[in-house]
Amino acid sequence: MTKDSVPDWHSRAAGLQVAGQPFIDGASRSSQGGSARSLSSPTGDREPYQVFDSSDTDVSTAVAAARNAFDSAWQAMGPAERKRHLLTFANAIDANADTLALCDCLDVGKPIANAQGEAHVAAAFIRYYAEALDKVYSGHAVPTGQTAMEWQMLRPRGVVGAITPWNFPVINAGLKAGPALAAGNTLVLKPSELSPRSTLELARIATEAGLPDGVINVIPGGAATGEALVEHAGVDLLTFTGSTQTGKQVVRAIGTSSIKPVLLECGGKSPEILFADMAELGLEEIASAIVRGAFWNLGQVCVARTRLLVQQEMYDSLLDALVGAATELPLGDPLDTATLFGPLASAQQLAMVSGYIESGVAEGARLLLDGRNPQGVGAGCYLGATLFADVTNSMRIGRQEIFGPVLSVMPFTDEGHALQLANDSDYGLAASVWTRDIGRAKRMADGLQVGKVRIIGSLNAAEGAGMGHSAEPCGQSGYGVEGGTDGLRSYLRKQSVEYVL
Ligand code: NAD
Repeated sequence: MTKDSVPDWHSRAAGLQVAGQPFIDGASRSSQGGSARSLSSPTGDREPYQVFDSSDTDVSTAVAAARNAFDSAWQAMGPAERKRHLLTFANAIDANADTLALCDCLDVGKPIANAQGEAHVAAAFIRYYAEALDKVYSGHAVPTGQTAMEWQMLRPRGVVGAITPWNFPVINAGLKAGPALAAGNTLVLKPSELSPRSTLELARIATEAGLPDGVINVIPGGAATGEALVEHAGVDLLTFTGSTQTGKQVVRAIGTSSIKPVLLECGGKSPEILFADMAELGLEEIASAIVRGAFWNLGQVCVARTRLLVQQEMYDSLLDALVGAATELPLGDPLDTATLFGPLASAQQLAMVSGYIESGVAEGARLLLDGRNPQGVGAGCYLGATLFADVTNSMRIGRQEIFGPVLSVMPFTDEGHALQLANDSDYGLAASVWTRDIGRAKRMADGLQVGKVRIIGSLNAAEGAGMGHSAEPCGQSGYGVEGGTDGLRSYLRKQSVEYVL
């Protein structure tokens, strides 16, 4: 790429226009009674973005549009045509990746290069499910006597309501839209109030790519808009990604309003367990992989391995290596393509994470690296990598999800002790185990009460299973399968059809 063709992200950011209104039935519509919200940029140096919190009326209009699109177009469409639509949509997302990236960069401070990659991941999810939709067979015949015939069918559910968080806005939208639409449902998406722009853009891109009006509708807004969607009787399945606390509210609201199936992907406090048999790999290499995994996206990752359990023999030497690796994480302007770590997503997030750091000190953990008040960055919501040693599971920083760049390290003696510490958690999303001993790896995977286990290697270490893996969380991290072809089945319902001959 020549110097002239390098995008000037600052001037592009100044020119970004995204209508902050509900996107319903193929167009941006004036909110009917919603209230305006002003979104400050986490870098603190941009004009606030004006967006409307969708009203109950907007939610009902969006659900009605989705129902109409389901009844009149999407449900009846054959698989080849639906696949063609979704592949065209995926290509359009790739073509608009820069705009989508700018949206997430400005809304939540995501470094622009990462945000571009995430837009392509959203496209990849849509493409994966487009390609899967005629490979997940829709049912089977049940053994019957001579005078009967029974088929078990998989049917679309109808209107799917999807609520997403702000940490990976465009990926989360793609991860909901891909399987929901491929299964033949239509969609009403409610993005986080902190990050509405990329989801609004996705709906516009879908319409321009030829998806029938009403197949994807977006209702920006906060908790009240989310509640209206959760409780709406016209929504046939609710899929939620967010904190455990909000997940509980969602389940309560469904129980007292219009009962409906729900998929819940909630919070985590995932352990990373390092056995001393890994020492030959080299402390620096291990520490740098662990730091990358714990601090990727500044720890604002549901499966971030933020509890590091280290076998006693290598505890002290690893702490030194971790400090070395974590000190090297540079913060910068998210619009600079070289930046790997920007600000936290919001002032509220900065205050919350800083509060956890204070609590760690107050509860007696050893602060090895303090990321507060980092140098060389502006007045935005910046916080550097923070490391605590000698953490216990009874401390808040050992138990609660911090969702920031804070790694809590604790020692263990043997396999049994490691399992006991790892499983002593309300959450059960993921875990990593570092050992060269395959028998130990299996015993640990057998014993860990989590949805996903990685043996050797942290997050982002390798491509792994790509789009194909599916898992179900444990404990208060939620329930329901997301990902892979089983994730497509989550958006289908089983119907039995019995013919008496
Ligand atoms: P959050 O729970 O505050 O909000 C999530 C979404 O729920 C937002 O769209 C929000 O507006 C909406 N909401 C808030 N109150 C609601 C209510 N009463 N009814 C309906 N909707 C409501 O979470 P967040 O801060 O946006 O995201 C961070 C959380 O998301 C973390 O806990 C993280 O672990 C979790 N997360 C989980 C996964 C996963 O796959 N398990 C993935 C990403 C993020």
